[in-house]
Amino acid sequence: MKTRIIRKFSFDAAHQLFTMPEWHKCRRMHGHTYLCEVVCEGEVDPEVGFFLDYGDLKTKIDPIVQQLDHHYLNDIPGLQVPTAEMIAKWIYEKLKPELPSLAILRLWETPNNGVEYAPSASDA
Ligand SMILES: [Zn+2]
Repeated sequence: MKTRIIRKFSFDAAHQLFTMPEWHKCRRMHGHTYLCEVVCEGEVDPEVGFFLDYGDLKTKIDPIVQQLDHHYLNDIPGLQVPTAEMIAKWIYEKLKPELPSLAILRLWETPNNGVEYAPSASDA
């Protein structure tokens, strides 16, 4: 039986989008409370009833949170253009080597606006 499990985490960070026009509000320094959803897919081990321990997931996510939380995203290598799309891709690429079952990375910049990054699904 294949399932997807989800772990959510949040972080607060500031950014500026210098790629936007001068008049655009996103060009000014501002911050968000980002909500991130990490979705992993795998075969359930019938003996234990799951395929991945939520605790292991947290252990792999915590270093990412430390790099992002209360930071100015533009200063982080690889996040010079810190749109939600680019942040989602950055988090995905940081986690994937540690978490091969990672299938989807969702990042909510506001309660209403978010992106979904799932390169294996879109490449197929
Ligand atoms: Zn913003």
